[in-house]
Amino acid sequence: FEPVRVRRTAPAGPGPIADLVGADITTALDGSGRSVRYVNLDYAASAPALSAVAAEIAEALPQYASVHRGAGYLSQLTTDRYEKARVSVRRFIRARADDHVIFTRNTTDAINLLAGATPGDTVVLDIEHHANLLPWKRSGARVVACRPTLAETITALSEELQRSPAALLAVTGASNVTGEVLPLTTLADIAHSAGARILVDAAQLAPHRALNMVSHGIDYLVFSGHKLYAPFGCGVLAGRGDWLDAAAPYLAGGGATLDVRGSDAASDDGSDTGVQWATGPARHEAGTPNVLGAVAIAAACEAVTELGHERIGLHEHALRCRLDAGLDSISGVEPLSIWSDTSDRVGIAAFTVTGRTPRAVAEFLNDSHGIGVRDGRFCAHPLLNHLGHPEGAVRVSFGLGTGADDIDRLLYALRELTATAS
Ligand code: PLP
Repeated sequence: FEPVRVRRTAPAGPGPIADLVGADITTALDGSGRSVRYVNLDYAASAPALSAVAAEIAEALPQYASVHRGAGYLSQLTTDRYEKARVSVRRFIRARADDHVIFTRNTTDAINLLAGATPGDTVVLDIEHHANLLPWKRSGARVVACRPTLAETITALSEELQRSPAALLAVTGASNVTGEVLPLTTLADIAHSAGARILVDAAQLAPHRALNMVSHGIDYLVFSGHKLYAPFGCGVLAGRGDWLDAAAPYLAGGGATLDVRGSDAASDDGSDTGVQWATGPARHEAGTPNVLGAVAIAAACEAVTELGHERIGLHEHALRCRLDAGLDSISGVEPLSIWSDTSDRVGIAAFTVTGRTPRAVAEFLNDSHGIGVRDGRFCAHPLLNHLGHPEGAVRVSFGLGTGADDIDRLLYALRELTATAS
């Protein structure tokens, strides 16, 4: 088949509750001659940038120089932007005053960094995105199989933590497959009562819900800019400083050191002769950092806060109810759930269609209706196996730029698909 041609048109104005860059894309559907507004229902992979984020990048872009090191005006300006971005992120996640806020490349990078700093066993569930599974498996994680209900799963996690000491419980804030939200305070409590800490992978939670490390009792939190309406290449690891300051620097290089000597000196920690490593974020941020990425994340944090989580929550809840009711009403469409006792979900839903491969469904939605979704196993192979769909599923995900008409277009297309014999 001919790939769908995508072209840009004049700006279509703000999205339903936020002005997004690229919300104005039109798809010319092959063969039919029709031209429709493209509907992006793949926010969980990477969300389109907010206009406020693009404006902030455009302002910072022409004026940058070396961060942290130079004495010149531009260097000071760049350093100021970078450190202010850290403050914005800290505020957004309500980190404790003494938590480290480290800029990373993305969530995967952040979790790998923490995995190298964790002094003991980690307990994880088998529902995790590979980013929150494989770094821990490498260091011998204890993987707990999820149970039919969330309540039973929490009990299983608690028993595993009590059975033998663990340093960390690593859990996602929301499933990247079904959108089901995990009860963070409860999970933090069971970790802490077993003497462990908790890491929350907030890659899918941060774009949808208010984060509060203090009130939820979260020790470590990670997320990616590109899922939070900022572009690629920057993420965050925030959390308690002691493990991070005791660990070997994530990368060895400039910026992570206080003093480096030649062959004449012994090291402070014995691992690198003659090198005295910095503590704090600098220890794990060697090399010239992604200042524009940090500026973009901070702008996204500010813009989302300004929109207000209450407003975002109402918008997304209405869409989710519309989507769930619609999917449930289409015969041949089977929505996926991990647990039978959860109802709290962010804007991510997965389903299968009887008699069609996930790829065929995704291609039909794109090619015949200009709707972009994701198909496959979503870097969560153990979960797809557990759900009985090792061949994968279709995933739709939405956010600030999505309107009720977008959900209706998806449902209309699925009705058309299921009405036609496969
Ligand atoms: N964790 C979850 C829950 C995710 O959904 C994803 C990406 O889809 C990741 C981690 C990895 O994010 P990144 O690719 O930005 O590192």
